[in-house]
Amino acid sequence: MRDRHGRKIEYLRVSLTDRCNLACTYCNPDRNFSLLPHEELLTLEEIGLVVRAFSRLGLKKVRLTGGEPLLRKGIVDLVARLYAIEGIEEVCLTTNGVLLGDHADALFRAGVRHVNISLDTLNPERFKEVTGRDEFHRVISAIHKVIDLGFSPVKVNTVLLKGVNADELHSFVEMTITHPIEWRFIEFMPIGTHCRWTEGDVFTTDEAKERIEARFGPLEEVYPRGKWHGPARLFRVKGARGLIGFISPISHHFCDTCNRLRLTPEGRLRLCLFSDKEIDIKGPIRSGMDEAGLSSFLKEVVYNKPLGPMAEEREPGCNRAMRAIGG
Ligand code: SAM
Repeated sequence: MRDRHGRKIEYLRVSLTDRCNLACTYCNPDRNFSLLPHEELLTLEEIGLVVRAFSRLGLKKVRLTGGEPLLRKGIVDLVARLYAIEGIEEVCLTTNGVLLGDHADALFRAGVRHVNISLDTLNPERFKEVTGRDEFHRVISAIHKVIDLGFSPVKVNTVLLKGVNADELHSFVEMTITHPIEWRFIEFMPIGTHCRWTEGDVFTTDEAKERIEARFGPLEEVYPRGKWHGPARLFRVKGARGLIGFISPISHHFCDTCNRLRLTPEGRLRLCLFSDKEIDIKGPIRSGMDEAGLSSFLKEVVYNKPLGPMAEEREPGCNRAMRAIGG
C-alpha cells in the first residue's frame, strides 16, 4: 500500500484504551479529562477486522499502545488473534511497564518479542513526581524480567526534558553499557492542548549526543539489519552491550519516510501524528461494512496520508492528548 507521496505504508499503531495507570506531567497534565465510555471503544473483534482489512493492503506490523495497553482486558488473546492474520509479521507493544511483569510470560507465549518500555528517570522519588505513582521498582523489575525471558529487542523510551531528567543522561547511557537494552531518547513534541510545550523545552538530539560523547567518547553508529527499524538513529558506546537511539521528530523530522498509521481507541484513523484530521472507521464497521468493503475504503483514505507538518513547513502540533493516541 503506497500513499500519494510514494511512501510504503506497512505499520499500524493501535491505541487500545485512553486510560492510563500513570499521569505523567508532560503527557497527561490535564487530570480532569473525561474518559471514553466502554461502548465507544473498538471491540477486540473490531480491531481484528480493521487489521484484516489492512493486511489485504500489505500491512505487516502492528504495535499495541494506549493509554496503557496492559489495562485492556483480553490483550493476550488479541495478540494471538492478530498473529493469526495472514501477512502480519510482527505484533509489538509500547507500555509504561507497571503491569508488564504480570503479563510478560503470556505475551511471550503469544508471540510478542519486541517491547518498548517508557521510563523517564532512574530515580524512584523523581519517578513519583513525574508519573504521580510510586511504581519505579515494578517497572525496573519488569525490564529485567523481559530481558531474562528473551524478549528482543527490549527498548526503553525516554523523553528528555530540560529541568526534569536531562541531568540523568549519563546514567541512562550507563544502563546500555551493562544491559542489552536499546535506550532511546525522544525529543519532546507539542502534543495535546494541555501540553505546555515551547521549542525551548526541547532537549535536542544534537545536545544529547554532544553531552554523551563528552563523557563516554565518540559513539559508533550502528546500522540496523532488522526489517522493522524505525526513525531512530542508533549508536553504541564502545564495548557496550546495548545501544543508544535518538528519535528527533523536532530537530531532524522524518515525515518523508513515515510509514505509520494510528488507530485511536474509539476507532478513528489518524494519518499523521501532527494532523487532527481523523477518519471514522467504527461508524462504517458498525453499519455493517464487510472486510472487503473496509479494505477498499481504507485504501483510498491511506492514499491521502498528508506529507507531514515539518515537510510541509507548517508548525507541528495536535489537539488530541498523547494518552489517546499512543505515541
Ligand atoms: N502507556 C504507554 C507508555 O507509557 O509507553 C503507551 C502510551 S504513551 C502516550 C507512549 C509514549 O509517548 C511514552 O513513551 C511517552 O513518554 C511518550 N510521550 C507522551 N507525550 C509526549 C510528548 N509530548 N512528546 C514526546 N513523547 C511523548
